[in-house]
Amino acid sequence: MTVPLIDPFQRAINYLRVSVTDRCDFRCVYCMSENMTFLPKKELLTLEELDRMCSTFVGLGVEKLRITGGEPLVRRGIMAFFNSMTRHLDSGALKELTLTTNGSQLERFADDLYAAGVRRVNISLDTLDEKKFADITRWGRLPQVLRGIDAAQKARMRVKLNAVALKGFNEDELFSITDWCASRDIDLTWIEVMPMGDIGNEDRLDQYWPLKDLRARLRDRFTVTELSERTGGPARYVRLEETGQKIGFITPLTHNFCESCNRVRLTCTGELYMCLGQEDMADLRPAMRNNPQNDAPLISAIREAISRKPKGHDFDYSRQTVDGRVTRHMSHTGG
Ligand code: SAM
Ligand code: SF4
Repeated sequence: MTVPLIDPFQRAINYLRVSVTDRCDFRCVYCMSENMTFLPKKELLTLEELDRMCSTFVGLGVEKLRITGGEPLVRRGIMAFFNSMTRHLDSGALKELTLTTNGSQLERFADDLYAAGVRRVNISLDTLDEKKFADITRWGRLPQVLRGIDAAQKARMRVKLNAVALKGFNEDELFSITDWCASRDIDLTWIEVMPMGDIGNEDRLDQYWPLKDLRARLRDRFTVTELSERTGGPARYVRLEETGQKIGFITPLTHNFCESCNRVRLTCTGELYMCLGQEDMADLRPAMRNNPQNDAPLISAIREAISRKPKGHDFDYSRQTVDGRVTRHMSHTGG
């Protein structure tokens, strides 16, 4: 039997997030600058290489695979990759195949994703106001994303909305977004903005709306019960008693979620990041490319990387400066 991936802090690593492209059809202001430079296409792992990487991780005990980016659904031929991962669901080795998307291409792909075995999708949406949506995403259009959400629900995928909490931007939509999600049976998670990558003229501290404020505001209208439930991930949950809704909070900056971290992240060029908030990584590509017929060197490289997984990240806004920031963009590591 294969020895599972266990890190130095005895955390079993069974969740891999894979960024399949750094490109995107949006330019969200907290994520990218408008004139973002992308990697030359030849730098990207091919779809076959992505398959080999993911399959190797599945062979080492990874049970959950989340495909992300950049915008994963703008990668050419990406459905072939999803379809090839179906075999791991069929064998039972993989328990969940899922993705995080901005929703722009879901109208086109929802049925195919369901057919490939995707049962849940995280869709990023920070506002329900058309004008604000165009402002925050720069290139995105709300109606297209709403059609994508409709298509995902029609295809019987469970939808979770991820909203980045942004000061002075969507504070006034706290209740309208909550109500909209309740009316459509959509799960909702709020995320604090993280200091990742140069984003041009935007200021991180200007964008930062601490989720403890947001939680407090929810209490103005709802009876809020804290839930002890954890998914191994960074989210903490509350239930709104009046609607029965469960709301998630991802608070990397005000709450340390690292102790139960079970995940690692693979970039579209084959770098493995053991922590979203640290610079250390292992380049797995040479071990894979130099050994086309033999996975043993790749497996050793993965094990060596996991043995370096740090205890946690060092993001900190508490001193009114952005400490512990990392230079790469979220779209590089995959959010
Ligand atoms: N393009 C897809 C999307 O938007 O869902 C997948 C990739 S995107 C990088 C993944 C998630 O990261 C999105 O929910 C986005 O809102 C979030 N994100 C991007 N930059 C962020 C930042 N600086 N802080 C917090 N969340 C961020
Ligand atoms: Fe694109 Fe997602 Fe980044 Fe927005 S958050 S620019 S949709 S990668």
